[in-house]
Amino acid sequence: MIKDQLEQITASLGTNTTLVAVSKTHPIERIIEAYEAGQRDFGENKVQDLVEKYEALPKDIRWHMIGHLQSNKVKYIAPFVHLIHGVDSFKLLQEINKQGQKNGRRISCLLQFHIAQEDTKFGLSMEEATAFITGPEFSLLDHVRICGVMGMATFTENTAQIRSEFQSLHRIFRALKSTHFSSTTEFKEISMGMSDDYPIAMEEGSTLIRVGSKIFGRR
Ligand SMILES: *Cc1c(COP(=O)(O)O)cnc(C)c1O
Repeated sequence: MIKDQLEQITASLGTNTTLVAVSKTHPIERIIEAYEAGQRDFGENKVQDLVEKYEALPKDIRWHMIGHLQSNKVKYIAPFVHLIHGVDSFKLLQEINKQGQKNGRRISCLLQFHIAQEDTKFGLSMEEATAFITGPEFSLLDHVRICGVMGMATFTENTAQIRSEFQSLHRIFRALKSTHFSSTTEFKEISMGMSDDYPIAMEEGSTLIRVGSKIFGRR
């Protein structure tokens, strides 16, 4: 069943979009099932689970940290994490940079923007992001790699609203790409779309969809 779901989703992806299989709360055996079907990108939203699963599973898996990340926990995932999706403060970015330096690597990150009409979701405003991107300390961070943006749409059945929120994230991406990141080739990712809304996200230019329950079943 996992294999069938993966095949179905993968077949619908454009060449520019990568599927991150969100395995949070699901046991190792189910992740292995997906791995054996060829899946290599997996996402978790809790640091402890991410570390445990990294240790237990094959080392060619690319682990994505998709949840809210506290600065004091960055050190646990810094040695191996492939991409941190939810960078929502400069303080967090500075800590990721510090841990990247300690581990001798540049850690790839996405800036998370608040695009939903709910205040429960984390994320930066364009003003907040611009404030630190243009600040004096930003260019000193040489152990992070800003690869793009991430956002979550409102939990609603109103597909027009979801679409317009994804469009706003794409606009944010374009605005940053044409200004502060115009000479940064790695700034190319737009992480948006989950089980219920990824087809809309793909139409609106998503390059990374984060799909959990549609692959692994309900949590
Ligand atoms: C859980 C989660 C997902 C996946 O959600 P599904 O609805 O199960 O596909 C995607 N992104 C984030 C940030 C999540 O926490």
